[in-house]
Amino acid sequence: MSAKSDARRARRELVLNELGLTPLWRIREANAPEAAQLNQACTEIPAVGAGPAEIHTAHVDQWEDRRAKILRMGWEGLQTSVAGCVACPLCESRSRTVFGVGDPNADWLCVGEGPGAQEDATGEPFVGLAGQLLDNMLAAIDLKRGRNVFITNIVKCRPPGNREPTPVEAQSCEPYLARQIELIRPRLIIALGKIAGSNLLNTSASLASLRGKVHKYLDIPVIVTYHPAYLLRNLPGKAMVWEDLCFARSTMNQLLQSGH
Ligand code: SF4
Repeated sequence: MSAKSDARRARRELVLNELGLTPLWRIREANAPEAAQLNQACTEIPAVGAGPAEIHTAHVDQWEDRRAKILRMGWEGLQTSVAGCVACPLCESRSRTVFGVGDPNADWLCVGEGPGAQEDATGEPFVGLAGQLLDNMLAAIDLKRGRNVFITNIVKCRPPGNREPTPVEAQSCEPYLARQIELIRPRLIIALGKIAGSNLLNTSASLASLRGKVHKYLDIPVIVTYHPAYLLRNLPGKAMVWEDLCFARSTMNQLLQSGH
């Protein structure tokens, strides 16, 4: 097993510990048999009488099994599975899931934190003021929503009160993003904000220390910048975002020139 998958497994185990071994999120409704089957796999309670060690192992196995199933899905199956997902507590308060929007064959992938109130109501990521700002950011590097860019979030359901997603929620949703990235195969990922950067790069480093460098998600370059919602509260941050976007554009140009 590689060091990366060891680290991922260790992190998952940490999250499972945080769950207190009782992630009993109930099935609310599933939109497809596939989703129902998958959701059952992650909500089943281990056999009565099982001890803590057996329960823990059962949950780790269910977790791995669910991830493996998601990583085999095609685009439509993935959309269906997300729409019916009840794998973490966020399913209880959402109005609808927010899968993502844009070109599924895009060179650029923008990843934010999670849906807000307007996104939860419309099912589209980055609408409202933060969305307009993101559109302006994309325009600054000659991109337009829906054309050669896909936009999604770390979690596909709205955290109540626009709080940050917890590690458990982010980890529960991680297989969906991992599969989206596998299927889109973007040339470059822009992580919007600390939550996106830290989850994609599996780090607790500050956003300031992540900016201005090319990181890697597997073999895909990742550039980290501020979330548009942060910029709405901190206008001076716009100059730094401009720098990051210019850096992203020049990185993409180099990738294109080198045939990556
Ligand atoms: S946030 Fe992700 S893992 Fe949690 S219920 Fe929504 S789709 Fe499922």
